[in-house]
Amino acid sequence: DQKFKVVVVGGGPGGLSVSSTVSKLLGKNQVAVIEPSNKHYYQPLWTYVGGGLKNFNESVKPMADVMPLDAEWIQDKVTEFDPDNNTVKLADGQTVGYEYLVVAAGIQVNWDGVKGLKDALGKDGVTSNYDADSVQKTYKFLQEFKGGNALFTFPNSPLKCPGAPTKITFLAEEAFRLSGVRDKTNVIYNTAAGKIFGIDHYGKVLQKLADERDINVNFQHELIEIDANNHQAIFKNNANGGEVKSFEYDFIHVAPPQGPPKFIKESKLADAAGWVDVNKDTLRHNKYKNIFALGDCSSLPTSKTAAAITAESGVLKWNLIHDIKGKKVDQAVYDGYTSCPLIVGRDQLILAEFSGYTGQPLETFPVDQRGISKISQYLNKEVIPAIYWNGLLKGSWVGPGAFRRMFDVVRPKRDN
Ligand code: FAD
Repeated sequence: DQKFKVVVVGGGPGGLSVSSTVSKLLGKNQVAVIEPSNKHYYQPLWTYVGGGLKNFNESVKPMADVMPLDAEWIQDKVTEFDPDNNTVKLADGQTVGYEYLVVAAGIQVNWDGVKGLKDALGKDGVTSNYDADSVQKTYKFLQEFKGGNALFTFPNSPLKCPGAPTKITFLAEEAFRLSGVRDKTNVIYNTAAGKIFGIDHYGKVLQKLADERDINVNFQHELIEIDANNHQAIFKNNANGGEVKSFEYDFIHVAPPQGPPKFIKESKLADAAGWVDVNKDTLRHNKYKNIFALGDCSSLPTSKTAAAITAESGVLKWNLIHDIKGKKVDQAVYDGYTSCPLIVGRDQLILAEFSGYTGQPLETFPVDQRGISKISQYLNKEVIPAIYWNGLLKGSWVGPGAFRRMFDVVRPKRDN
């Protein structure tokens, strides 16, 4: 069985942003990345893929091409953690030892959480941008749509990119206008939440826009079943004692329920909710001091995005590297920075940037970012993907904090 100075679980943006920097620093045979998948997905592109604005191929690269050169790639799954003995167990039965462990295994999508969804997905107008196969069907279904009920859902669980369900709603509504079927279409957004967006600063703008575009928003409506044979989506109305309500659909985009990965939830690393239990400032495990976590699988109480990982990775690496060098003070502190590029049209984006800890805006540019911007859309669609592949995954991009602090000098003061 093998042993490494640093073992990283997961080869998504969280795992690669950390392992690339640390493996460069420590040299060969010191850092291992445990990752079962052959492919690495840039999931933020999937909204554009679903909306017909980007090619799916641009969102995927072979895992071998993005693995840091100095890291050892162990292509397997972690099945168990043994933090008292500093080892993890793999699906093939082997154990891997570590001095430091970084957990970045993402969120688990629970397709079984909605009855009938798994079988219906990708067929007959039922789609989801949350799946690598199904996302390639979304735009096809939108083009084939001839009017009727277009439904969009938001689950009763934490989810990655909580803005994604609304983004595809706005893109679809625009697509129906462009294809001339909008006046024969009901656009219905059924969310299990009580608001269209968790952060009011941006949510108010988004709700107003939904009203203007005649998008019917129903709150506290939780999707529980897809009856594909009868084209019925069945919801539980949690505002009304769980009353069951059926909606006929001609197109439906589902944001599926999600939660902590099972192997984490069942481990000693988990908090009560099942996420890796880390300190929200330092990203260090609350009990096991040689363990860190970042990204979607962590307990960090901010919204789960790749944008959050940019800032998280900078903090985690600072604290981890200083620990490796024998300086055991966690001086780097995470402020909860996250971003949600709220796509509201082909050339329209509201660049929400905020702290998930305080709910306050943490905007990069010295303008009020609640305005609809064509430039922000270009930035998010054409520039940020390059920063992701060439900066974040290579360990050199730790978020826009430095730019924000620079622009603070000229930023106008605002009331809210
Ligand atoms: P992941 O990217 O999920 O990577 C986790 C990795 O761990 C995977 O490679 C997986 O194979 C591996 N793994 C899983 N289980 C194990 C195991 N047992 N052992 C070892 N490895 C394992 N973010 C934004 O910032 N902006 C956006 O606009 C945006 N839009 C989105 C739109 C959609 C439709 C979706 C689905 C996501 C979007 N996101 C967006 C969210 C973003 O993609 C995630 O927050 C980000 O990918 C999380 O990174 P991660 O490294 O934590 O997890």
